[in-house]
Amino acid sequence: MAICQVKVVHAQSVADNVTHLKLAVPAGCTWETGQFARIAMPAKDEPQWRCYSIASKGGSETLDFFIARVKGGAVSPRLCNLQAGDEVLLDTEMNGMLIESKLEKGGRDLWLISTGTGVAPFVAVVSDDAIMDKYERVFLVHGVRKWNETQYLQHVLKLQPKLRVMASVTRDPGAMIDVRIPDALESGLLEEVAGAKLDPKTSRVMLCGNPAMVKAVRAGMRSRGIVSPRNGEPGQLLAENFWL
Ligand SMILES: Cc1cc2nc3c(=O)[nH]c(=O)nc-3n(C[C@H](O)[C@H](O)[C@H](O)COP(=O)(O)OP(=O)(O)OC[C@H]3O[C@@H](n4cnc5c(N)ncnc54)[C@H](O)[C@@H]3O)c2cc1C
Repeated sequence: MAICQVKVVHAQSVADNVTHLKLAVPAGCTWETGQFARIAMPAKDEPQWRCYSIASKGGSETLDFFIARVKGGAVSPRLCNLQAGDEVLLDTEMNGMLIESKLEKGGRDLWLISTGTGVAPFVAVVSDDAIMDKYERVFLVHGVRKWNETQYLQHVLKLQPKLRVMASVTRDPGAMIDVRIPDALESGLLEEVAGAKLDPKTSRVMLCGNPAMVKAVRAGMRSRGIVSPRNGEPGQLLAENFWL
């Protein structure tokens, strides 16, 4: 573990309760696209560490994060109040399950399925040409309650012909997917809107965010033969939960 105190170079509220933070990269700090970092507010006593997915690809000039302000939370409201020039603690030892190279080779479609700020590692993935070049089509699914929670993606995603962004919006009208992601998967709406079939031969899947979504979608994928790598066996699905 290597703890650094790093500068906030940019802090912006991008939606109700979501802040985009960019941190300076300490010398020698490296990460892989899709990983998360541990961050804490500087403290006189024991710092309270929390994990945050990195929204910038490995090798970027800044470490980017999307942080949801959790009501009553010990750390996230303070991170959301940060301004450029402030400092936070960063553990430079990065971790994470969402490493694309762990997926079985040979996929044609990459499905990136998220809720809320769980979209963060996928913002990094779609900005990484080394990953994007491997796939013919990439479906980024973003589950939110209100449109306001998804619109900031327009400003951070690199638009590209093979990328299709699909919002699942449950409490505002107008979305093609207006039900929760697991329900859209089960009913076939998700595949219908994408115009693509989920299949273990051609599809590779990454899930991130709300554990209830991750659990339900994982089960739906399992019934289609799409499973995580295990005991040296290749797999087509990787997942990260934001809480228990
Ligand atoms: C691997 C990993 C990556 C993560 N990446 C991100 C990220 O990129 N962005 C992000 O905003 N959070 C992320 N989190 C969640 C983050 O670590 C904290 O749990 C969150 O910021 C709440 O911390 P807190 O101290 O404010 O709340 P606490 O006082 O610790 O309360 C925690 C409770 O808040 C709830 N909660 C946690 N995260 C969320 C959330 N995003 N939305 C709604 N409720 C939540 C859960 O019920 C949890 O039990 C990640 C968690 C993990 C394990």
